[in-house]
Amino acid sequence: MSRRAPLVLMYHGVDRVPEDRDPYAMFVTPDAFRAQIEHLLEEGFVPLSEQAFVEGRRSGTLPSRSVLITFDDGYVGVGEHAAPVLESFGVPSVLYVPAALVGGCSDWLEPRHRHPLMSGEELRAVDRRGMAVGAHGTDHRDLTRVSGDELRRQTAGARRALGELLGRPVTSFAFPFGSHDARVRAAVRAAGYETAFAVHEADGGFAVGRVDVNAVDTMRTFRLKLHPLYPRARRVSGRVPAVRRVVHDLLGRAPRERTVDLPDPAGAR
Ligand SMILES: [Zn+2]
Repeated sequence: MSRRAPLVLMYHGVDRVPEDRDPYAMFVTPDAFRAQIEHLLEEGFVPLSEQAFVEGRRSGTLPSRSVLITFDDGYVGVGEHAAPVLESFGVPSVLYVPAALVGGCSDWLEPRHRHPLMSGEELRAVDRRGMAVGAHGTDHRDLTRVSGDELRRQTAGARRALGELLGRPVTSFAFPFGSHDARVRAAVRAAGYETAFAVHEADGGFAVGRVDVNAVDTMRTFRLKLHPLYPRARRVSGRVPAVRRVVHDLLGRAPRERTVDLPDPAGAR
């Protein structure tokens, strides 16, 4: 297996979150995350830092089998569970946070699906230890639907705020909801970022495609997602959701936890 472009994985949370509090399957369990990182290393993937990715892409010198691990949103479990695993293996990563929601929660989701986001102190700590912090807008809006002034706030403003928080220039950006168009990509470039990440809809160095890893992935579906042809297959099946359901039915789906409503102990109230 060879690939010209590096594999870029997109995670959201790493934590034990029951299905009814995570309907979008964003939280991979800490055990599954560790097994996935071990598998990548066993398979010979060379982990890249944000800087190695940017420089290697520019000079065309990226190793043929390389991987960049990214996380969106900045959930506290990523600092608690993912960062120590990555550090123990010496694997760098990038964490994309909405600049105005540092220390807040994922308030773009409906209340029962919201989860806490890392504080400024926590972000500075992981940034110093190999999980580089990048920008994910200011308050997680679809940037294709905001005015020009708002777009500058969401791109240049986020870069300024996070740069002040971290005490270093911020290098890369991830589009909230993976949503972008030519105007949004131009704003990100003008704000001084060196690269930006999309999800399935890739478009050059300012909309690099990523492979989404989520709570329903089994080791089997995770391995499938590492294949160089996976992004193309995903784009095709994305237009035909029934195909994706069939594929998941064939390959399996990781079991999810559910919040169990325990009956009140006898005699209580
Ligand atoms: Zn996000």
